[in-house]
Amino acid sequence: MDVIVQKFGGTSVSEKERRRRVIEHIRRERESGFALVVVVSAMGRFGDPYATDTLLSLVGGDRSNLPPREKDLLLSTGEIISAAVLAEELWEEDIPNTILTGGQAGIITNDRPNNAHIVALKPDRVKEALVLGHVVIVPGFQGMSQSGQITTLGRGGSDTSAAALGVALDAKYVDIYTDVNGVMTADPRFVEEARPIREMTYTEVANYAYLGAKVIHPRAVELAMQKNIPLRIRGLFDDGIGTVILPLSEINKHRGLRERLITGITHVADVTQIVVESDTVDYKLHLNVFKAMADHGISVDFINTSPSHVAYTVSRRDTERAEILLKQMELTYKLTPGCAKISVVGAGMTGRPGVMSTIVEALVEAGIPILQAADSHTTIWVLTENMYLKQALLALHRKFALAMEETEVEEDGGIVHFISS
Ligand code: ADP
Ligand code: MG
Repeated sequence: MDVIVQKFGGTSVSEKERRRRVIEHIRRERESGFALVVVVSAMGRFGDPYATDTLLSLVGGDRSNLPPREKDLLLSTGEIISAAVLAEELWEEDIPNTILTGGQAGIITNDRPNNAHIVALKPDRVKEALVLGHVVIVPGFQGMSQSGQITTLGRGGSDTSAAALGVALDAKYVDIYTDVNGVMTADPRFVEEARPIREMTYTEVANYAYLGAKVIHPRAVELAMQKNIPLRIRGLFDDGIGTVILPLSEINKHRGLRERLITGITHVADVTQIVVESDTVDYKLHLNVFKAMADHGISVDFINTSPSHVAYTVSRRDTERAEILLKQMELTYKLTPGCAKISVVGAGMTGRPGVMSTIVEALVEAGIPILQAADSHTTIWVLTENMYLKQALLALHRKFALAMEETEVEEDGGIVHFISS
C-alpha cells in the first residue's frame, strides 16, 4: 500500500470554496491508487471563529491564566472542528473517511504542554482504516502524552504532524499544501518576481525555514530527513509539483548542485542590533556579555566579536531586558532597534569565492547600508535596517538572477538537468 500524507494549512481549509480544491487533491491521489492520510490545521487566521489564535483569545490570549495543560485542551479543538467539517464534505462526495485525533493516530509526545515533542509513533489505527479504503483525517498540531494528556506541538505543528505520520507510514510523499506554489526564492510578500524553487535538500530547506521562510516548520523537515521521506511544498490552487525536498544524494542523481550558486533569500525583520564597545582590550568582554544574556534566557544571534567590541542581535521582545542588563554591567553600548537580518542561502556557494563581494556590491549599488555581515559555507547573512528590507531583497534577487525560470534540458544519456536560462 503506497501512502501519501497531505497537509492542508489554515487558509486552505478556511472556506468551502478552498475546501473544494482540497477535495480535488484528495480525489486525484485516491484515483491514482494511493492510500491517503490528510492532516488539517484549524480553519483560517485570527478573527475567524475557530482559528487557533481566536480560540486563544477566548481565554485572555498571551496573558491567559488558564494552565498550560488546559490551554492545550482548548487549542486542540480548532483542528478537530476543521477535520469534522472536511469529513462531512468528503462523505457528501461519497469518499469514505475516518477521523483519528493525534493521539488515536499514534502521535505520542512527552508531557510538555504547548510545545510537546514527539517521542513515539504507533499508527496501528491509521493502518486499519487505510486497509478499509478510508481516507484518514488527522487533526494536526496535536498528540497525546504517555500519561494520556492531549498535548499540542507548538507553532507550525501541523507540518510536524504530517511529517511524523509520513515517517510512521513510510509514505511515498508528504505533500504540504499552502497558499503559495512552493518554497519561493524570496518571501513573495516582498519580492513579487519571486518564483518557486524546484528542488531543495532537507538541510537547505530547514536552514531556510530557521532563517525566516515560515513556509514549513523546520522540525517537520528534520523528521522527514531521518527516514528520507520526500516532502513537497505545493500550491492549493496550482497543478504543478511545487518544491520537492530530497536528500542531497537524490538531487545529485540528476543535477549537479554546484551549477546553482544561490538557492534563495530569506529574512527575519524586527530584530535589535546591540554593539558593546570597550576602550581597553578586554578578552573577557564577550564572555561576560553572553553569559549575562544566557543567564537571563535571552537568545542572541548574529555575533561578531573582537577584543574591544561585541556586536549581536536580540529579538524585539528581549530588547528591553537586554538593555537593563547592559546598564547594570555599566557597559558602553549602542542599540539599533528595527533591523532586518537577510540570509542568502545556497549549498552551491560552498568553496566558491566572490559571493560575499557580490552581495556587498548589490547592496552598495542600491545605497543600502550594511550594519553587519557574516558567512558560513552555505549561507551569508547581512544586517540592515527594516526600512531597506524590501529594496535589499529586490536588489539581491536581481543580482543573483533568481527570477529566471529554471528550465529542463536533455543532457547526454537522457539525464535531465535544470539550468537557469
Ligand atoms: P499554512 O497556513 O498553509 O501553514 P503558512 O502561512 O504557514 O501557511 O506559510 C505560507 C506563507 O509563508 C506564505 O503565504 C508566504 O507569505 C510565507 N513565506 C515567507 N517566506 C516564504 C518563502 N521564501 N517561500 C514561500 N512562502 C514564504
Ligand atoms: Mg504553516
